[in-house]
Amino acid sequence: MKRICILLTIAWSLQSFCPLVQQSPVTAQSSSFQIEDSDLFLQTATRPARPNRDYSREVESLLSQMSLEEKVGQMTQLELGMVTTGEGNNIRVDPAKLEKAVVKYGAGSILNVKDHALTVDKWREIIRDLQEASRKTRLKIPVIYGIDTIHGANYIQGATLFPQEIGMAATWNPPLMQRAAEMAAAETRVAGIPWTFSPVLDLGRQPLWPRFYETFGEDPYLASVMGAAFVRGIEGDDISAPTHVATSLKHYLGYSFPLTGRDRTPAWIPENYLREYFLPSFAAAVKAGARTVMVNSAEINGTPGHINHHVLTDILRQELGFKGFVVSDWEDIKKLVTIWKAAADEKEATRLAVMAGIDMSMVPSDYSFSDLLIQLVKEGKVPQSRIDEAVRYILRVKYELGLFKDPLATAPAANFATAEARALSLEAARESMTLLKNDGGILPLKKDQKILVTGPTADSLMSLNNGWTYVWQGNNPAFYPKDRPTIVAALKAKGGNNVSFVPGASLDKEIDINAAVSAARAADVVVVCIGEGSYAETPGNITDLTLDEPQLKLAEAIEATGKPVVLVLVEGRPRVINRIVDKARGILLAYNPGNEGGAAVADVLYGDYNPGGRLPFTYPRTPNGLITYDHKVFETEDTSFGNTAFKPQFEFGSGLSYTTFTYSDLRLGQKTIGKNDDLTVSVTVTNSGARAGKEVVHLYLSDLVASLTPPGKRLKRFAKVTLQPGQARTLTFTLHQSDLSFIGSDNKPVIEPGDFEVTVGALKDRFTLK
Ligand code: BGC
Repeated sequence: MKRICILLTIAWSLQSFCPLVQQSPVTAQSSSFQIEDSDLFLQTATRPARPNRDYSREVESLLSQMSLEEKVGQMTQLELGMVTTGEGNNIRVDPAKLEKAVVKYGAGSILNVKDHALTVDKWREIIRDLQEASRKTRLKIPVIYGIDTIHGANYIQGATLFPQEIGMAATWNPPLMQRAAEMAAAETRVAGIPWTFSPVLDLGRQPLWPRFYETFGEDPYLASVMGAAFVRGIEGDDISAPTHVATSLKHYLGYSFPLTGRDRTPAWIPENYLREYFLPSFAAAVKAGARTVMVNSAEINGTPGHINHHVLTDILRQELGFKGFVVSDWEDIKKLVTIWKAAADEKEATRLAVMAGIDMSMVPSDYSFSDLLIQLVKEGKVPQSRIDEAVRYILRVKYELGLFKDPLATAPAANFATAEARALSLEAARESMTLLKNDGGILPLKKDQKILVTGPTADSLMSLNNGWTYVWQGNNPAFYPKDRPTIVAALKAKGGNNVSFVPGASLDKEIDINAAVSAARAADVVVVCIGEGSYAETPGNITDLTLDEPQLKLAEAIEATGKPVVLVLVEGRPRVINRIVDKARGILLAYNPGNEGGAAVADVLYGDYNPGGRLPFTYPRTPNGLITYDHKVFETEDTSFGNTAFKPQFEFGSGLSYTTFTYSDLRLGQKTIGKNDDLTVSVTVTNSGARAGKEVVHLYLSDLVASLTPPGKRLKRFAKVTLQPGQARTLTFTLHQSDLSFIGSDNKPVIEPGDFEVTVGALKDRFTLK
């Protein structure tokens, strides 16, 4: 911790960052983390913290002793069922299966668990058995185990769960993201697991996509800063420390933007836009030191992710200089045959994938990959040099993780599910809360008001968490903690008998809307909690972004009583709610805030915490009105043809507070700059209201004329500051030439002279690049 504090002093005051360690639980308005310049944070997070030890000698010496079969074994990843028998808690390693997988085939990696979360002890037992088997192999190469630590150490019973990435993005607080990731890494390593398949660095620009909540939202810059923070937190300054694990950046590249919005379906993304929007988050995370990359399970421009040599090798290796290894996604080499029809048989698929740059195949349930790849090398269809290259990358990560030294290294159990982690999860959940509407100051609620709570997400930890929660779909109630309040429980804890609850509707059925309406008539305010249940990947596909009819009906019926209504949205993607927005007096977007989310919602609704979250995506008003904030200017303007243009329901970056902030004194260092000059931009932000609050300051840049039609604006910097009533802060940002560039039609960055506009809050100013 000490080292991190010293490192971070450059960007944030020591005083504001370090106290969290001692200070637990957090107080309602505490601000343990803040960031005054996103660029300074990014520079720190992407700077090599400590030069890695160079393991080339060890790697080369081991490689020279390996047979072809042993090398291909290292490139093979199997699922846990391939080495175990039994279900649930009775799962145990099967010696015969283990012998075949690890000793005979020399499988280099195992992943996941079936639809179950295991105890820390069970995990340690499994990892011990696996590594003991690896010690029986000729060269004693340790196995690398991986799981999906998506918003906490999923698949481990009792692990701390934080808000999903979309909620973390809404905090606009990368130091908080980094600390949460550190804790998630330590909890993963307590179970003996040294590798996570996270962060998700796909952009959330297609709200139908069922993995939207796994993203940091629509903006490449925000995703880059938060992604780098995630990598830094998970991998730490020294990845061999047994409190850290390796990351896997996924799903490289362009997975999140399917034309239809359905998971694992085609995307059309020209290379200039691929580079402009989808590449930067991966590039920043590679710079931050990420050890592995997982591949896009779908296709872009007709080329499946797993055979895209240009993306996997030319861009990732040659341009970004990635030195770790590339793992396929689940069964994706086989799917080149069965789904994508890009290869006639699995052998050809294996050749194409390995030659494109896949170093390890998540096979995961048979030995076909190993058998076929050995044949391909023997037939001269895959050169030995390509195999050596892949194995070098894999061995290097295993050495860096310290697995050769101690394959059983675990973090001490004291690192698991600590009070500090729970407090941090609550802090993150509170910081993510985004207040989208507060007409007439209906919020905060008063403790003596009679509050009716209704709706399907009011009493559901599953909705608060969504998928990747203990199990893949997050849908097994047995694993959820019994002592974490849902929204209604947390409201009752504050409002006592003044708070009542009538379900009204389930997610997709009416239950007792009439009863809810009668109860509403006797209430002062009605809190209607709506949204989504839990889902992950393809099972979460929908064909309509509109919120389910029974929920809209419930909200409309309550609004028709004339009582003030506050909507609480608990959802992983923006479900269209235009029918109920205008009559609602208050709207709070909670995203999927995790197990502390019920408490966080209640804190905000009752005003014990002043909300400061900001939307990390553009909230659509209509199912087909999908647009991002960085659209072209004319797209949201009504045209002379009488067209009504797309008007988002809520703008990217929006979010209210119980105080007000004013912006003044926007100053540019110069009005004209040359092609080697930086530009400073300063602005003063004042808390002009009556209570302390957090403001997220966004700096946008508009290139006014460009050879490729310019977006209206692009986010270039942000800051998050806590201000006391009357307090003012002057922030100074420095823009570099690279901030003025875009990817031109030749797919290369270009900087074009001309006029630019800077926007901060409602203030604008212009400068000219000579
Ligand atoms: C998902 C990945 C995940 C993998 C292992 C796949 O279906 O696409 O994101 O890491 O399964 O659980």
